[in-house]
Amino acid sequence: MTMKTRLITGGLVVSAYGVYPADVWIEGEKIKVLGAPGAFAGQEFDETLDASGKLVLPGLIDPHLHFNSPFMGTISVHDFKNGTAAAAHGGITTLIDFSTQPKGGSLMANLAQKEEEAGGRTYIDWSMSGILLDASPQTLEEIPQLIQAGVPTYKCFTTYKHSGRLMEDSGILKILETTARHGGMLMVHCEHDAIIERLIEKELAAGHYAPIYHARTRPPEAENLMIQRLIDLVRQVTAPVYIVHTSTAESVQIVSQARASGLPVHNETCTHYLALTEEKLLGPQAQFFICSPPLRQQRDVDALWAGLANGCVETVGSDDAGVPTVDNLRLGQGRFDKVPSGMSGIEARLSILYTEGVCKGRLSLPRLVEITSTNVARLFGLYPQKGHLSPGADADVVVYNPQGTWTMTAKTLHMNTDFCPFEGWQIQGHVDTVISRGADVIRSGQLVGQPGHGQRVFRKLNA
Ligand SMILES: [Zn+2]
Repeated sequence: MTMKTRLITGGLVVSAYGVYPADVWIEGEKIKVLGAPGAFAGQEFDETLDASGKLVLPGLIDPHLHFNSPFMGTISVHDFKNGTAAAAHGGITTLIDFSTQPKGGSLMANLAQKEEEAGGRTYIDWSMSGILLDASPQTLEEIPQLIQAGVPTYKCFTTYKHSGRLMEDSGILKILETTARHGGMLMVHCEHDAIIERLIEKELAAGHYAPIYHARTRPPEAENLMIQRLIDLVRQVTAPVYIVHTSTAESVQIVSQARASGLPVHNETCTHYLALTEEKLLGPQAQFFICSPPLRQQRDVDALWAGLANGCVETVGSDDAGVPTVDNLRLGQGRFDKVPSGMSGIEARLSILYTEGVCKGRLSLPRLVEITSTNVARLFGLYPQKGHLSPGADADVVVYNPQGTWTMTAKTLHMNTDFCPFEGWQIQGHVDTVISRGADVIRSGQLVGQPGHGQRVFRKLNA
């Protein structure tokens, strides 16, 4: 069988290790080889893509999003079709959604159901992480099955007790033991529930209902305390943990110190914690900016950027979880504690990180690739299949044109929502072409891929 050959010429290839001019030879679904500019001039290709003046990056991987997710009486705006289309517009070629254990039920059964939902509907490759609601003997038995099924990561919450999602320390310890034995990684949403619940009671009693009280009742201390406590649990039972959406300045220090002491503790932040502050909770549309953990202050934003630059923060996810704005208003009833939290951001990550990070000197190009692709691939068991442009890897490629500016709005994006957290932001450059396993998904900024091209990726963590 002859496979289609493509050459991407004239571009600047960006890897986690550097930036260099190179031509990229794609054969079928894989990268065949990279060469100096012009090195393959004598070869014939089925197709040649001129990337002169453009950046050639490994496709981005989003490790944190919620598609088709029921939450607080509504459901998130993105499904596997429109969500993966918006993701592709944002330069993403692989995403990892969540499969939630039904209360008291089987995670494996839910995983099968999620596969049914996603199968044949995605423009790009995908996987799942589990969400564990309990640490029952049945759940603990299912963890190795999950790992065997190519889903070696699973998350628990230390908050949301009222909706039955809080995992007690005893449960976390048991899950860590199973994780250590079978080679998985536990993702944890760290916020100390009792602090938050008590503060909410007090503010509501004082008649404080406005969106800013969402931030006041989920203070940085609640997050910092829980991160420290999780690390202390990992000191008891050592297994890899990945702290999702860290948002505070202190978290950067706490986690990097734990890692420096040899513990396998990893941390993620999200686009919105790098670009927005809690002032949004005082402005117009405040209740659409409610997310957990809440938006913080400029000192936190600055510390997260510094942590990304110096390696103390390892990845950036989107935590895409917006609900329809009509549902946000209807269910919120003018009370911060009733608003279904979460924002849509699956498409904005690369644009915001490039504009606010690279163009403002806060992030190097290699580091941009590392935190959005290479590190995610390594931590989530997608490497060496994904996360870099090297011979044998999947031909997942983003061609980014750094020239020109545009205004990000709900209308200029392709997300299934009329609210954009970054409305009106000036963006430098744009996603020109996105290739998933050798096939164009986005060409000249237009969606040309097919739902059903995307495949589930079997993930396996490195020992
Ligand atoms: Zn999330």
